[in-house]
Amino acid sequence: MLRYTAALMTAIRTLDNLWMGRPRSIAAALLESEGHHAIVDSGPGSTLEALRKQLQARGLSVGDLDALLLTHIHLDHAGASGALVRENPRLAVYVHKNGAPHMADPSKLVASALRLWPNELQQLFGETLPVPPENLRILEGGETLTLGSSKLEVVYTPGHASHHVSYFDHEESVAFVGDTAGVRIEGHSYVMPATPPPDIDLEIWENSFTAILERKPARLFLTHFGFSGNPVEHVLLFRERLHKWAAVAEKSIRSASDDSAAMATFMAATRAEIAEYLPADEMEHYVFNAGLNLSFLGLARYLRKRAAAAS
Ligand SMILES: [Zn+2]
Repeated sequence: MLRYTAALMTAIRTLDNLWMGRPRSIAAALLESEGHHAIVDSGPGSTLEALRKQLQARGLSVGDLDALLLTHIHLDHAGASGALVRENPRLAVYVHKNGAPHMADPSKLVASALRLWPNELQQLFGETLPVPPENLRILEGGETLTLGSSKLEVVYTPGHASHHVSYFDHEESVAFVGDTAGVRIEGHSYVMPATPPPDIDLEIWENSFTAILERKPARLFLTHFGFSGNPVEHVLLFRERLHKWAAVAEKSIRSASDDSAAMATFMAATRAEIAEYLPADEMEHYVFNAGLNLSFLGLARYLRKRAAAAS
């Protein structure tokens, strides 16, 4: 006897974008429900070819995608958006309202990335094309998106960036949290903060942890990289390390003669910590993925802003 089931299922697949030729660096999530397809975070322009191949391997092309759901607009997550729309003009690109103007005109986004990576921008991120305004779907958090028969709740989760949202598939009990829960390469237990400039904020980040945990997802999906199976433990570990690293940054700044000396002190201290948990090659993989030097710059900027506001 056949029984009709009303369970609304989403197929979720990890697409490895092989960023800079490295497996397990940037994961795009492919969501499928009743013939409708969406991607959470496309990755940068430099990984477009890898993304095409990953889709192809599943019998799909860019033209089959209905929606691109961006967690935030940093180039490693959203850089390929404009190129994907050029290839598939019906693609809807969902993005938080604070990030949307920079998707329509990425010139400022690219200029600030160029300051952080003066020599490697092209190699790391490739081309960043604008997304035509008619393709943008502006989010604030609180929306429910529909893909086939499945539903996704949009939740505003700032902290890593002021334009960060997370997507919750309650039926599958998966939260697509972008960089809100740091970097944890699937298969490892070590969780590493990624706190790049310009607008990380540890106080505001707390609300995002609460928002994630109170929805009780069974799994997190991280851009760097893949599924994490115990969200409560994951978030608590991450939160603790985030605050610890902020204290390390603060101490480094106070004791060093200048910024580059402070960065060197911070890098040495955090690397020594990571080495307690990971073998050398995996440590370098984490450091590359999270951008450890940028994490210092982001924390330093945040600490100065906070000190200026308090004085
Ligand atoms: Zn990222």
